[in-house]
Amino acid sequence: MNLINQYLWRNFEYMDLFTDEFFMKEALKEAQKALAKDEIPIGAVIVSKNQIVARAHNLTETLNDVTAHAEMQAITSAANALGGKYLVDCTLYVTLEPCVMCAGALYWSQLSKIVYGASDQKRGYTTTNSELLHPKTQIIKGIMENECSNLLIEFFKKKRLLKNK
Ligand SMILES: [Zn+2]
Repeated sequence: MNLINQYLWRNFEYMDLFTDEFFMKEALKEAQKALAKDEIPIGAVIVSKNQIVARAHNLTETLNDVTAHAEMQAITSAANALGGKYLVDCTLYVTLEPCVMCAGALYWSQLSKIVYGASDQKRGYTTTNSELLHPKTQIIKGIMENECSNLLIEFFKKKRLLKNK
């Protein structure tokens, strides 16, 4: 391989690293942290210029707070890290479709892009007809959907088994 080809190849690999799957895997790591705390396993990361500026997971039990969803924690944390309340040019990766509350918060944050794994047929923001997100916000769904939903399915299966004992 000549030098130019080597250079191109290296850059290609570098570009290839920052895919939606790459960052969704990081959100899944956060979901695993929630699972370890016996929280509903949902994780999120916020990315700005290919860098993770916030990592968060669901903490509703730990904080005894129904609003402590992964996305809410991530928005606050990213705003602190970036030093401004608006998250323009940021992407949120979250393992489960945001609920109506989180979609509202994401609207206010002016986030550019949302990538989610599993759909939430019961509480997801798409279950309502109203347009909760900013029309300019780009949405990608179904990234690593199986991995994201399996975590939740297993969690609730275990909970049910424990309940019936
Ligand atoms: Zn939510």
